[in-house]
Amino acid sequence: MIRIEKAELREIRLPLIEPFETSAGVTTEKRVLLLEMTHADGSVAWSECAAEALPTYSPDTVDTCWFALVEWVIPVVLRHEFEWASDVDVYFERRIRGHRMARATVEMGTWSIAALRLEVPLATLLARHAGASPRATVATGIAIGMQADPAALSARVAEAAREGYCRARIKIGPGRDVAFVSAVRDAAGQEFALAVDANCSYSLDDPSHLAALRELDTLGLAMIEQPLAHGDLVRHAELQRDMKTRICLDESLDSDTSAEAMLAIGSARMANLKPGRVGGFSEAIAIHNRCAAAAVPLFCGGMLETGIGRAYNVALASLPYFTEPGDLSPSSRYWVRDVVTSPWTMDAEGAVKVPLDKPGIGVDVDVGLIDDLTVRRVSLSRS
Ligand code: MG
Repeated sequence: MIRIEKAELREIRLPLIEPFETSAGVTTEKRVLLLEMTHADGSVAWSECAAEALPTYSPDTVDTCWFALVEWVIPVVLRHEFEWASDVDVYFERRIRGHRMARATVEMGTWSIAALRLEVPLATLLARHAGASPRATVATGIAIGMQADPAALSARVAEAAREGYCRARIKIGPGRDVAFVSAVRDAAGQEFALAVDANCSYSLDDPSHLAALRELDTLGLAMIEQPLAHGDLVRHAELQRDMKTRICLDESLDSDTSAEAMLAIGSARMANLKPGRVGGFSEAIAIHNRCAAAAVPLFCGGMLETGIGRAYNVALASLPYFTEPGDLSPSSRYWVRDVVTSPWTMDAEGAVKVPLDKPGIGVDVDVGLIDDLTVRRVSLSRS
């Protein structure tokens, strides 16, 4: 039985080593919500909210999630007891429309509590729920933000290849696409796995956009991620029929229901699965199993998580059908100092070790550092 007695929500500000630019803007400092939940037996789980400061990627933001967590989501787990972690999602699905990133913060934390109470690693618990075994390592790709010119981008991709990353995924947008990607392809060679992510910035109604997408289709890309609008499964299906390169959906995939629609009409042949975006692990595992049955490969996307959120993503990415490299970069790529005491690392082959040697998320949280970085906090208890 899962019985949460106390939940403390905080916002921290964590400076990035370098600014990260996508078609939606530039991020220099990450505003992060962290949740610390305490179970009746004293077990403590830290979890992270995937939301960003602005509603450019998702309608959920740091501030809407703060409100949703304090007003609706956390009170649910402080008022009820749950037999399984997956029951939390069932309850949320019935009572709270949307607010998936806020729900995921609590839902994923309860999986961590459940893993601690069963004395198993989080990855093992998720795999059991999926009817599978976790793998020992997960392959890592790198997402590279927009650069000033094709030469600068090529240099960044060459550096990523040297560091061992299994794939580079380049952020593109109209006017900053074909010339950039062609230069990278020439510099990196045909063998290196190269993908692009457009973050919804193209339209089939614009002939110049369509021409760029057709040229990108000739560059041997591993996939083209989310070229069209976030809600537009129909036009993605139309485009996929027209392209030999796999389309991968990210923003469009907000639930198992949208995954079912994506597969039914052929909107994509790959999926970027972020557990925060779909409401947590229960929904993510359902999507994993659905995509496995349809032979549509997955990768675990990132939201510039700290080492806490990274632990949850690594556990999810250890499920067997995450066959494509995930956004699981080591801590040193993003943070001057991560909020976990043993930063995440990657080996020379681009593999991250799944922590299978201790119960729970497998990393220790640096509470002292989090205290120093906290800009607001609220504590809620079972009454
Ligand atoms: Mg994306």
